[in-house]
Amino acid sequence: RSRAGSPVRFAGVSKSFGSFVAVHPLVLDVKEGEFMSFLGPSGSGKTTTLMMLAGFEEPTDGRIYIGHQDITAVPPARRNVGMVFQSYALFPHMTVEQNIAFPLRMRGLSKAEQMREVGRVLEIVGLERFGRRFPGQLSGGQQQRVALARAIVFQPPVLLMDEPLSALDKYLRSHLQSEIRRIHRDLGITVVYVTHDQDEAMTMSDRICVMRDGRIAQVDAPEALYSRPQDEFVVGFLGESN
Ligand code: ADP
Repeated sequence: RSRAGSPVRFAGVSKSFGSFVAVHPLVLDVKEGEFMSFLGPSGSGKTTTLMMLAGFEEPTDGRIYIGHQDITAVPPARRNVGMVFQSYALFPHMTVEQNIAFPLRMRGLSKAEQMREVGRVLEIVGLERFGRRFPGQLSGGQQQRVALARAIVFQPPVLLMDEPLSALDKYLRSHLQSEIRRIHRDLGITVVYVTHDQDEAMTMSDRICVMRDGRIAQVDAPEALYSRPQDEFVVGFLGESN
């Protein structure tokens, strides 16, 4: 392992929009190097929770910690977390290499250091031969690999992903699932993952946090969710097929 992940702590974190409570005070510890998924129906507060961890939504109350640091008031760019979203959000006018180098440029790395690190992550995501291409010349799966490479290139201790595979077809999805799993394992990085797809959560996660109406319904390992569901909601939600 090149570098271990950091633990993440949600200490009573809540979010209201006006009088509507999207996330009730949430208490959750994600362990160092753990793959934690937020799973739940649409509107259950998964993305809002992730956006608070990323720094794009300000909590109404509570604190968030990465490692020992209280990051609640730290701007997104200084939180040292990698992010991958459903839409790849690549810069279309930049090559793959330039896209991936972007966070390194922002951090002031030299050109030589940038190229070395870009080469390293291109290999990790299996795109060694595509560095000079533009995003528009790549398939959806390849573009999402570039986004993933860009998210891990600065070796963040925490990687956030919000439905990163939902725009891809079934075959690519399962392929990328195992790649993300492998990258998580190899890098020892902490992953916080949002999905509404229970099969995906089951396949990939060390633990799953099932959300319902802005609250945690149950947090458990995949097997335990099935063998010991806490209530009818969890039974019902897991029983639905996607
Ligand atoms: P999920 O990711 O589980 O689908 P979200 O976190 O996106 O759920 O949303 C949780 C709830 O908060 C939803 O009812 C949503 O409509 C509401 N919500 C999210 N963002 C805003 C916002 N900016 N203004 C008002 N309501 C919002």
